[in-house]
Amino acid sequence: QLIVYNYMNGPCYRCLYPTPPPPETVTNCSDGGVMGAVTGVIGSLQAMEAIKIITNNLSSFCGKLLLYDAFAGSFRSIKLRGRQSSCLVCSENPQITKLQDYELFCGSKATDKRRRKIWNLY
Ligand SMILES: [Zn+2]
Repeated sequence: QLIVYNYMNGPCYRCLYPTPPPPETVTNCSDGGVMGAVTGVIGSLQAMEAIKIITNNLSSFCGKLLLYDAFAGSFRSIKLRGRQSSCLVCSENPQITKLQDYELFCGSKATDKRRRKIWNLY
């Protein structure tokens, strides 16, 4: 998936996802699996969006979500709802004005960033 948040009056992440999903429904990349080649495809598209934004050009994915299906070899995009006037982050009277504790917000540990000891070599 590719999207550009909070640009050109587009929605922020919280506009689209005001509350986190239940922790038991969320998996991390280590458990859920991510194919390396897919991150290369999406990473290249992200880099192009960054270049367009830095050079004051329009982003192709502001207010739009690009979905990439690697097995089907297909892309499709979905128009997203706009910025929410009641958003806790980007509304005129935001309730959230600083970064939150991610683990507290999600109600679960961010264990996918911890390196697992595979062998007794270190
Ligand atoms: Zn917002």
